[in-house]
Amino acid sequence: MGRQEAADELPPHVLIFPLPMQGHINSMLKLAELLCLSNLHVTMLFSEYSHSRLRRHADIESRFSRYPGFRVATMCDGLPDDHPRVGERTMEIMMSLLEVGGAQFRKLMETTDALSYGGGARRRVTCLIMDGVLSFAVPVAQEMGIPFIYFRTSSPCSFWANFCFNDVIQAGEIPLKGKDEDKYTYWKRGDLDLMVRSVPGMEGYLRRRDLPAFCRVDDANDSEFQTIIRETRRSAHSSGLILNSFEDLDGPILDQIRNPIPNLYSIGPLHTHLQARLQSSLTSSSFYQEDRSSMTWLDSQPAKSVVYVSFGSVTLLSRNELLEFWYGLVNSGHKFLWVMRPDSIIGDDEKGRVPVEVEEGTKERGCVLGWVPQNEVLVHPSVGAFFTHCGWNSTLESVAAGVPMICWPYFADQTINSRFVSEVWRVGLDMKDSCDRVIVEKMVREIMGERRDEFEERARAMADLANKAVSEGGTSSTNFNRLLHFIKSSL
Ligand code: UDP
Repeated sequence: MGRQEAADELPPHVLIFPLPMQGHINSMLKLAELLCLSNLHVTMLFSEYSHSRLRRHADIESRFSRYPGFRVATMCDGLPDDHPRVGERTMEIMMSLLEVGGAQFRKLMETTDALSYGGGARRRVTCLIMDGVLSFAVPVAQEMGIPFIYFRTSSPCSFWANFCFNDVIQAGEIPLKGKDEDKYTYWKRGDLDLMVRSVPGMEGYLRRRDLPAFCRVDDANDSEFQTIIRETRRSAHSSGLILNSFEDLDGPILDQIRNPIPNLYSIGPLHTHLQARLQSSLTSSSFYQEDRSSMTWLDSQPAKSVVYVSFGSVTLLSRNELLEFWYGLVNSGHKFLWVMRPDSIIGDDEKGRVPVEVEEGTKERGCVLGWVPQNEVLVHPSVGAFFTHCGWNSTLESVAAGVPMICWPYFADQTINSRFVSEVWRVGLDMKDSCDRVIVEKMVREIMGERRDEFEERARAMADLANKAVSEGGTSSTNFNRLLHFIKSSL
């Protein structure tokens, strides 16, 4: 066989490029693994910072060594190593990459060798799957004639709302103003309860207070706000859009999105999808070391007796917020397993420290750990509810596990997700803009006690539908095969 003929035999080569944040990487890495299982060649492009964390805490290279077609490439995110990369400042990751990413990406794509280190023959990149907020790769892909697909890792409902923001601005419903006000004072504003009328399909339940915090600007020309709108609208000019959801969960919103973007691939929940193909449990892709003592602690608890508490990888809590949650949980009388990342507590003199009363008082009531294997925790028989910030991965993981939620959204898509949890799917309660021990206690009692059966029944039914979607012939499985067909046919 000649060199050219040999090259023609090689599988397609997909480059996947997530925004370097835990939630984005978790879902895009699962897609990478699904593509590897389908014998495609995949290069995962990480920022140097996230790659070093994944190496340290998730042993990423040895985990993927079973896939001969998998490679890693890295680029710099333009931020100093000691940048916190949490809380509101996560926005700086995207803004910085939009600035410094283009030139690095071009160099990487022009140097084929950089994408095939580690040996093994591979094609040049034949398809690009990039995070839905990283459009800087587009000009290079276009010049090189490489088809590109966006993957928006947030929820379809928030994607769709963001996509419609120009109309929402036209209608005078945003911006919400009050950027510099203290958030608890701001949330008391009565006009936040007004319905948003200009997002088709959500007229009945979307209120202004459900919109993301970045709508809270004084001027619609605010550069970050406009960047988000622009990046979102760009998805309409791609070969397709991947969303981590499934038709039975998000059908009506997915149909709305299909109007401007007909080539839509809803292939989620990706962790369930991957699990179904692997027939084994998932391995970690965590930025933090998972504490497996969480599982032994759960083993010692009665069935459905524990509230699992986690606010994800970037939420920051003030000491006061933390104490309201803690007292609410303790006063509910139910046990809890709480993930408190070491970098999640803010305060002048207590930075990074769990308050003494929490440390001491928790011993009888529950367990506080720095990071846990969340997917395993959620399916553990002892877990009865999830007190969550409603990040999209956490929400989907809870849906797929059939665990009812109590939602305290922090920012970004979380405020819309929590509205959908409570009003559309009705698998949980939305605490929204309050942080009060009395409300926490009441909601925990409701979801773990008085209204347990009703929430559990709906959550179980939705989990069954999630599993059906990823099984053979299910909607997500069929959409994934369609995606494979597109990738294979665009060589
Ligand atoms: N997660 C985990 N262990 C923890 C807390 C979170 O593995 O102790 C994972 C969780 O399963 C999810 C991700 O971290 O996949 C968080 O993503 P999400 O979209 O929910 O929120 P974000 O961190 O982006 O705000």
